Amino acid sequence: MLFSGGDPCHSVEVSNRRNAQKGFIRSEFDMKNKEIAKKAAQFAAPFRITNGRKFHLKTIDPQETLDFKGDDKTRAKEALATGIAALADLQDMLYAQDRWAVLLIFQAMDAAGKDGAIKHVMSGLNPQGCQVFSFKSPSAEELDHDYLWRCMKCLPERGRIGIFNRSYYEETLVVRVHSEYLEKQKLPQKLIDKGIWKRRFRDIRGFERYLTHNGIAICKFFLHVSKKEQKRRFLERLEKPEKNWKFSSADLEEREYWDEYQSAYADMIRNTATPYAPWHVVPADNKWFTRLVVAAAVIDTLSSLSLAYPVLGKEQLRELAAARRALQ
Ligand code: ATP
Ligand code: MG
Repeated sequence: MLFSGGDPCHSVEVSNRRNAQKGFIRSEFDMKNKEIAKKAAQFAAPFRITNGRKFHLKTIDPQETLDFKGDDKTRAKEALATGIAALADLQDMLYAQDRWAVLLIFQAMDAAGKDGAIKHVMSGLNPQGCQVFSFKSPSAEELDHDYLWRCMKCLPERGRIGIFNRSYYEETLVVRVHSEYLEKQKLPQKLIDKGIWKRRFRDIRGFERYLTHNGIAICKFFLHVSKKEQKRRFLERLEKPEKNWKFSSADLEEREYWDEYQSAYADMIRNTATPYAPWHVVPADNKWFTRLVVAAAVIDTLSSLSLAYPVLGKEQLRELAAARRALQ
């Protein structure tokens, strides 16, 4: 089962024997997480796009739940809890090692569940190791700079997980769908031509490559919700008093541009899905499934960094021994 960790007792015993011969004993904990990481990688794989050249949005069904059925929600919740526990362990090592940073980017149509996915998947993590930023319509000060400027200032520090709730990708989405936003950007007129989107894609690919060369691992999510499900969620926001605050008539206006957005998203993925900064096109009609895929992809990203707690040198070990003696 997803995130169940397989048969830990047997594998731990065999591996402990092997590792003991190598001079160290790996904890049961560690082995279980390794097994979870393997399963997470397999689970996220069908949704991961590392080369977008031939990508079409219709290849991923927003209602997809793989072998989880509607009545499997409890099983899915248990799996998510196990995944989150593994994620917390990985985050602890990321923080202790203080070398890598991880950048998670979330993009989606309104009501696709970005906020919920961020809230649930990150719920078990140490808040000190996470940094979340939401990018809204740019301010006058932001419009006085290049479009990466405001995002650059929010990049995660080493050892941290940075979350972008929307990002510089809006520059190829909302700004592409509404040309009036481009006009507001105060760009020299000669730079606004037919080639602008290709150039933006190329610059973003270059920027993301630069980040990975500097130890920032990138994992991107497009939560793919259907138009029908968006309508259902908007109606729910109107009908349930506790959800009223989430409704904005601006969201309804954007819904009118559904097809334009879908083709902008598809083009964005085609042009910016790379092995070093993959997109995950996550089925988003079932929130519980979305969260599982996001958790699996984040576990996979962190596991691929070969994280480990720092090993102390002889000098530092001597210092610890001296400190212990001093305290006794
Ligand atoms: P929620 O509605 O769940 O609270 P949200 O991400 O939709 O979250 P809003 O404040 O509703 O937050 O919307 C932010 C808006 O800012 C979006 O419509 C988005 O398209 C817009 N936006 C983000 N970046 C840019 C940009 N660079 N240029 C223009 N508009 C942008
Ligand atoms: Mg909104």
